[in-house]
Amino acid sequence: MITFNTCQLSFKAKLIDVHAHVGKHENVTYTKDMLDVFVKQPLPNNDTVEMMIVSDTDTFKGLVNEYDGNKKALQSFNNDKSYAFLASCSPKNGNVQNIQKLMNEFQGNFVGLKFHPNDNNLPVSDPKYEPYFEFANRNKIPCMFHTQVPVDNANGGILFRLPDGSLDMSKLDQFSDPEAIYSVAKKYKDAPFVMAHMGGGWNESHDRAIDVLVESVKKGDANLYADISWVDIDAQNSAKDHIVKAIKKLKGIGETDWTHGDQSFRLMFGTDAPIARFKTDSARADYVKFVDDIKNAIRNDSDLAKNAEKIIEDLFYNNAKKLFFSIKSVTEAAQNSASKSGGKTGKIVAGIIGAIGIIGGGMYLSNKKNSAESKL
Ligand SMILES: [Zn+2]
Repeated sequence: MITFNTCQLSFKAKLIDVHAHVGKHENVTYTKDMLDVFVKQPLPNNDTVEMMIVSDTDTFKGLVNEYDGNKKALQSFNNDKSYAFLASCSPKNGNVQNIQKLMNEFQGNFVGLKFHPNDNNLPVSDPKYEPYFEFANRNKIPCMFHTQVPVDNANGGILFRLPDGSLDMSKLDQFSDPEAIYSVAKKYKDAPFVMAHMGGGWNESHDRAIDVLVESVKKGDANLYADISWVDIDAQNSAKDHIVKAIKKLKGIGETDWTHGDQSFRLMFGTDAPIARFKTDSARADYVKFVDDIKNAIRNDSDLAKNAEKIIEDLFYNNAKKLFFSIKSVTEAAQNSASKSGGKTGKIVAGIIGAIGIIGGGMYLSNKKNSAESKL
């Protein structure tokens, strides 16, 4: 009698985790060794994290100079090629020249910029962001933003609404709302803008980000992406409604008159490791549960099942590789910078090219509160 070990049948995936941190957060100091537990050995399901993209929390909080903070974080990794970095930016008290100097000097290490409007205490609409966005736009550098949408946990985790049913705009996050990111992204269409946590919060928070993503595709007026860190992570029965919904909508499934092809490349796997549960003794098990629950939700969806393995590979690996490590986009960026800015930004683009070598060679429980973990 033949017995099948389901582990042998499972797809052993390569993963790129686009959202990880080092630095201090709420009295904990996060360091490389807390990320190595995911990266340096196969996960319990035999998947392998091939690359993590890391940003420094101290720097985007504005606690240290942007050049010094990012440099210190980078050097704490001892040139480990399993990691790439987003240069953390602090528009409130920083200067884009710090970031330009950093990317020039440490070519091949920084694959994008990271902004945390809440922790930097500066709404994304503030003019202080403009020099950073202009720099990113000239060089087609991806920009990742913390996003969040508060929900009414006492009332089923829905968006705050007025008695007439309309949204209570006063309750929306003034710093990191997906609509605010979208408004800015329209002005800098050459820079991919990534909404981390896909409108973090719970339930309808993510619908707000999905609506923005789909609207921007339909109108073609911005170049928006999202990562799925924390999305649906504690959903009832391990369902991943919002992740599945986002994939389907970006593929045009269920949309009438969809003429935009498959836009699901705009969604990428990320975790926020080693924040909150991803620093505990059960971190590896929690990490794998998040990964496997998403895979199963995709495989179990009637619309996605037939292409599930390809969708999984795209979500967990290909989409991030294309955005952050793509030769094509860098070639375009090189041409762009050569024609517009000359040698200086050309060097920065060469830095991003260098990074290519590294890769080349949360059904929700409607009355469930989101966990009390302090995410970032
Ligand atoms: Zn984060």
